Amino acid sequence: MNPIQEHCPADTLRKKRESLSIIVPVFNEALVVQQFYSRTSAVLATLDCDYELLFVDDGSTDHSVATLLQIAAQDQRVGLICLSRNFGKEVATSAGLDASVGDAVIVIDADLQHPPELITEFVARWREGYEVVVATRSREDSEGWFKRQSSRLYYRLLNRLSNVDIPVDTGDFRLMSRAVVKAVCSMREHHRYMKGLFAWAGFKSIAIPYSRAHRQGGDSKWGNLKLFALAIEGITSFSIVPLRFATIMGFLVAMGTFTYAVYFVIKTLLFGEVVRGFPTLITLILFISGVQLLCLGVIGEYLGRVYNEAKRRPLYFVARQHDSSLAHDARENKQDA
Ligand code: UDP
Ligand code: MG
Repeated sequence: MNPIQEHCPADTLRKKRESLSIIVPVFNEALVVQQFYSRTSAVLATLDCDYELLFVDDGSTDHSVATLLQIAAQDQRVGLICLSRNFGKEVATSAGLDASVGDAVIVIDADLQHPPELITEFVARWREGYEVVVATRSREDSEGWFKRQSSRLYYRLLNRLSNVDIPVDTGDFRLMSRAVVKAVCSMREHHRYMKGLFAWAGFKSIAIPYSRAHRQGGDSKWGNLKLFALAIEGITSFSIVPLRFATIMGFLVAMGTFTYAVYFVIKTLLFGEVVRGFPTLITLILFISGVQLLCLGVIGEYLGRVYNEAKRRPLYFVARQHDSSLAHDARENKQDA
């Protein structure tokens, strides 16, 4: 018997089975959760590892919770966290990441737009040594020309303005190793632009393409206004260039006005004073006021965020929690240790 075997009982020497946590944010998805559960469980059953399916209810007002509780009563591998109200998908996902115990964590939508079958490939890549496996969607199939182009332009702008590389066409559908989850969980900011946080964390990653399915029931919770707010969030969370833009604009306008003033002085000296120029005056005043308001607005956007962060409130409150067997065992092991 070698010295290691002498000190360790046989079962600790045996390699620990890998475990997966699947995190599913749920907001009013009663129409699809059962179907989601069946399809995803079927995929997970084919993988050679332990898993928990962790649903995070983000304050649903339909009977999603009742359905999820029914599912959890029949399957011990299902866990449920009910947040105290609707906090938004970003926070719901973070609540799931905080509570997850698996060696790798997969984030997936409940509406079956993310094909659960891709999980098999995620896990294969993770076993090859990648810390992040992210699904990139091919847009051509689902969206119109305008949406595709504006989104492409937005990401180009965002990547120019910020110094992290936020990949186009990726969402939350991804696998992360425990180390990455730990990194993401350590960022407690309230303005959570998840794509940006994931990119900021770094780690060895690989992208795999998929084509996004249509929603299997219910409606998308992202209207155009919400998408616009998210776009602003992305820029303000990862770049302070717009603040610099205010300075640059101020400088340019001041220089322009100065040149204009010099021109006026010379003109008056040469040709005497003529009482005209009201249109020039009013245009200048309005233009400069506009630029000032714009700059104030930009500063306000950032100040508002500083204000929100300065309150240091918790990200969310949990109203009710039902542990999966994996989470239960992990907690017991921790207590024993
Ligand atoms: N979701 C959430 N909280 C919200 C909005 C959405 O947890 O406030 C969940 C929703 O249940 C779904 C996922 O986030 O599982 C993606 O939402 P949705 O399908 O509405 O977004 P889209 O696919 O249109 O981007
Ligand atoms: Mg969806």
